[in-house]
Amino acid sequence: MGRVLVIGAGGVSTVAVKKIAMNADVFTDIMVASRTKSKCDKIAADIKNVKVKTAQVNADNVDELVALFNDFKPELVVNLALPYQDLSIMDACLAYGVSYLDTANYEPLDEAKYEYSWQWAYKDRFEKAGLTAILGCGFDPGVTGVYTAYAAKHHFDEIQYLDIVDCNAGDHHKAFATNFNPEINIREITQRGKYYEDGEWKETDPLSVHKPLNYPNVGPRESYLMYHEELESLTKNFPTIKRARFWMTFGQEYLTHLRVIQNIGMSRIDPVMYNGQEIVPIQFLKAVLPNPGDLGENYTGETSIGCRIRGIKDGKEQTYYIYNNCSHEAAYKETGAQGVSYTTGVPAMIGAKLFMQGVWRKPGVWNVEEFNPDPFMKELNEQGLPWHEMFNVDLEL
Ligand code: NDP
Repeated sequence: MGRVLVIGAGGVSTVAVKKIAMNADVFTDIMVASRTKSKCDKIAADIKNVKVKTAQVNADNVDELVALFNDFKPELVVNLALPYQDLSIMDACLAYGVSYLDTANYEPLDEAKYEYSWQWAYKDRFEKAGLTAILGCGFDPGVTGVYTAYAAKHHFDEIQYLDIVDCNAGDHHKAFATNFNPEINIREITQRGKYYEDGEWKETDPLSVHKPLNYPNVGPRESYLMYHEELESLTKNFPTIKRARFWMTFGQEYLTHLRVIQNIGMSRIDPVMYNGQEIVPIQFLKAVLPNPGDLGENYTGETSIGCRIRGIKDGKEQTYYIYNNCSHEAAYKETGAQGVSYTTGVPAMIGAKLFMQGVWRKPGVWNVEEFNPDPFMKELNEQGLPWHEMFNVDLEL
């Protein structure tokens, strides 16, 4: 038995549901439910080997979710809607009695604030109910946490310096587009930068700290320091870390568009009056930007995401770089979605699979690095996201 309910029908869900269907020996019954049922039907129609059920649901509404759970009786709910829905879906999971997995931490709609406190506060309730909640099981957060846990388990006695490096060297041939939900993406990137050093969090002006870093098979790319949610859980779960930072590459064209969007007020998340009606500028902007799910067709190039780690092994300093490169074209050929959706959807499926197999299952609320990384690492190699390691390399950081 492996009854899985996926909520959301965007780019990430498209990949995850296809990959779930490719693992039909573990996932015996599959449903995808979202705000717009036609998008679920489109995902289901592309899957030929098994029948995928579909449903309409407003994931902000706990009662509607519980009614859907009563109908489908899932063993696991995979939340691939937006971060705004995390808490209502977790509430519904507790009310019905089903385990939970997501790929992004909760974010209030009216405040771009990234922290796990809201979701960690559910730990006792999930534990008492005997239910598992797996948080942040995409690529970053997700695979980056598993990489760090793997490095800690096999290659270091003490991890001291962690730099997560995220490069998208792809070209979608559009003047400006985001690779996942534009609203969530722009909110995240326009925030102040933040990193962890010597027990405290240090802030920087948005995208003000940057340097070129060399990515395997890609070459040098300007990389910008920004805050990313896994820094919070990783510094908590690996207390030997002295410094943890996150870097992401952006092209000049992207940054110019972003600056204009900000300068003219289109990234605002507070409502403004327009023609007698309240609209939120960033939500309107999302409506006119390219749909990330439609970028795949002409997307060339690849992503390269990894962890650069310095620490101690057997009394000696060691450096280590573990990464995956993912081709947008190959991702599109396999799933009809581009590489960023692919690198998020595949790990979500792997987390769900390990839960179903009882391998990643323990009552409570957990970040991915709190589970055994080895079975996940094995699945990454088998499910389309192979990883590579380098030892004693110049980390450039
Ligand atoms: P999309 O915007 O493409 O898809 C989101 C889906 O959620 C849409 O189908 C949308 O419905 C649905 N949805 C939104 N609100 C509701 C609601 N109230 N009730 C029901 N359904 C709803 O996003 P992506 O697929 O790009 O991203 C999905 C998630 O993955 C996001 O949380 C994102 O932050 C996360 N992510 C994580 C990454 C990682 O590495 N950890 C990387 C990339 C993304 P509709 O179609 O009607 O709008």
